[in-house]
Amino acid sequence: MARRKKIYEGKAKILYEGPEPGTLVQYFKDDATAFNAEKRATIDGKGVLNNRLSEFFMSGLNAIGVPTHFIRRLNMREQLIRSVEIIPLEVVIRNVAAGSISKRLGIEEGTALPRPIVEFYYKDDALGDPLVAEEHVIAFGWANQQDLDDMVALGLRVNDFLSGLMMGVGIKLVDFKIEIGRIWEGDYMRLIVADEISPDSCRLWDMKTGQKLDKDVFRRDLGDLADAYTEVAKRLGVLPDQGTMSGPTLVN
Ligand code: UDP
Repeated sequence: MARRKKIYEGKAKILYEGPEPGTLVQYFKDDATAFNAEKRATIDGKGVLNNRLSEFFMSGLNAIGVPTHFIRRLNMREQLIRSVEIIPLEVVIRNVAAGSISKRLGIEEGTALPRPIVEFYYKDDALGDPLVAEEHVIAFGWANQQDLDDMVALGLRVNDFLSGLMMGVGIKLVDFKIEIGRIWEGDYMRLIVADEISPDSCRLWDMKTGQKLDKDVFRRDLGDLADAYTEVAKRLGVLPDQGTMSGPTLVN
């Protein structure tokens, strides 16, 4: 088979040219990074879990009419996606204070917010992805007012969908990040959910024990990250019954 053309390599994923125009293949790596890539590790199985979990969330969103880039999963680590023009913003939706909002505003982690809060961060590693206001987004032309309204609406729909799914399996969706891209259909431009939705980009707390089941396990050295993600996948019924992601066993 001809070698595929690599389009882009990020911290946790690689994008390859897709089989048809307008498509890409998204490959999930086992690499984990935090604190703007100052902390790094390879976590066996993380890519496989995130591929499955992102498939589960995105295909569910597609099914309820929230458009995403997801087309279908190809194998353990790869999925076929629509190629989009990524808007250079991380859209963060928060239900409970944690992480940067707790630090910035002095709100104790775990405090329920009066309503979901949507924030925008400018995607720029060199600047450490700074929080920006809608004024900046419009003034610098990253998106216009209509796009902003659409991004907030998309973010809130994703929030309702994910919160409900998680609540059903005893997990609190504290906050999450999505990325949004533009696609053109004839003369029309639409915004769709892109990138990934996985425990790498969410905060997920067990509703009874408060146990963290997301990337904070890695950021804060709280245990085995793959175990935490496996727990999320098992609860959601995303993993096969035995819950293991090991390969075939050699029979002598
Ligand atoms: N997040 C992410 N990528 C980033 C920054 C944040 O996926 O580059 C997610 C993070 O996992 C959390 C939410 O966005 O679910 C809010 O993160 P926060 O602003 O609290 O920053 P952090 O404390 O993670 O640095």
